[in-house]
Amino acid sequence: MKLLLIGLRPSNNVLQHQMPVHQYTSLPDVIHEPACFILDPESPQQQDELLIRIRQHPRWFAFPVFTVQPSQLSAYLSDGNIPDDLQIRIEQFAQRYQILKVDPEKGITERLLTYLWLWQGRSLSAKPHPESARLYDYPLAALWVDQDNELFPWLHSLEREGLIEGAMLVDRVRYCSVCHSGHLNYVESCPECGSIDVAAESALHCFACGHVATQADFLHAGHLSCPNCLSQLRHIGVDYDRPLENYRCHSCEALFTDGVVKVRCLESGHEQTPEQLIMRAIRHYKLTDSGVMYMRNGALRNLIPEWVGGHVAEEHFYWLLLWQNKLALRHRNSHLVAALRFTELGAVIYQLGEAEAITRIDALTQRLQSVMRHTDVCCHYRDDVLLFFLPNTPADHESVITNKLKSLGEEQITHNLQLDFRLRALPDPQLDDDAAIWIQQLLGEFTS
Ligand SMILES: [Zn+2]
Ligand SMILES: [Zn+2]
Ligand SMILES: [Zn+2]
Repeated sequence: MKLLLIGLRPSNNVLQHQMPVHQYTSLPDVIHEPACFILDPESPQQQDELLIRIRQHPRWFAFPVFTVQPSQLSAYLSDGNIPDDLQIRIEQFAQRYQILKVDPEKGITERLLTYLWLWQGRSLSAKPHPESARLYDYPLAALWVDQDNELFPWLHSLEREGLIEGAMLVDRVRYCSVCHSGHLNYVESCPECGSIDVAAESALHCFACGHVATQADFLHAGHLSCPNCLSQLRHIGVDYDRPLENYRCHSCEALFTDGVVKVRCLESGHEQTPEQLIMRAIRHYKLTDSGVMYMRNGALRNLIPEWVGGHVAEEHFYWLLLWQNKLALRHRNSHLVAALRFTELGAVIYQLGEAEAITRIDALTQRLQSVMRHTDVCCHYRDDVLLFFLPNTPADHESVITNKLKSLGEEQITHNLQLDFRLRALPDPQLDDDAAIWIQQLLGEFTS
């Protein structure tokens, strides 16, 4: 891979490595193969312009880009300073680039995932952006979306799909419930009349008669005395104290302890309570394991393939358990719940390599399907855990299932896969209203 230095200073000033460098004063028009940029222009502004042009380019956007001096956007658009292990890292990049199975020109999702995957340790970083109603921006992703308001919904959808996840929590921000602007003003108001013309004041409370008024009303010729009963107030705690109500409304004269906080949106003018605001976490994003898997396989898939029979989502599975448990209690029939776990799956994948591990898991899943019935319901609980609901399975059938799963597990030892399982019969009076906890308890029985 070529090293392209963009700048006027000679390369030996910026690069300690004995690697051949091609020097340019500005970005070349054409680059035929993947390259690595080193930016050393005259000014930070020029550097930001170069960074934007590279990251916007349909083919260069994921190339490694290093900077010598910081600029406003360098933390968000570059890969930082030249690393000590530059040569090794460039080789890693080139290898990944060669086996790239995703077409980054297909869409912005493919582009972002490609960008994050090709250079190890990359993340999509959030930058404070006070001028915008969103308050934060993702300068890199913002270069790619057509409409500015598409950016956050798009990132949230990628997060929901499990392709990216928060690498670091940057901030929590609140937005207007109507127009989603973050330009909000928080103001205290009177709990009686709603006026915002309120102010803290120093009030006194006379013990003799109970009169409450401002300190100024009590002060006469340098001494404190009650304007109501005329008692002399000498000692705080004995003659008088300071009441908790120390706010006064200048519209209705009410005294109160805590004002009501109103939030006014400076964009839409909408007035709301703090509870009504939309809260969002602002995070730097990185690729998830599923995102990495997506990049390696060129398609979205779970490690364990989708079940051929009835396959349901986690929430649906929980609902099914609760419902069937109630029915079983009433009608005296019995069901079985099975949890299957691939032990040490991460280590197996590491040992065998991903492609081989996937082939073996696929084969095992096929075998598993011959053990189960088509009326059984499967839930893909975790990367290494499958849950099954086996309806109308009499309790004495439990040993048959146990034996089948045991022999299946023994078959797998030659394939380096270890299968563990737990069975539980329904109805179970313990399963009353929280199936998620019940399942967690069942999974807790797995050792390690
Ligand atoms: Zn008032
Ligand atoms: Zn008094
Ligand atoms: Zn608003």
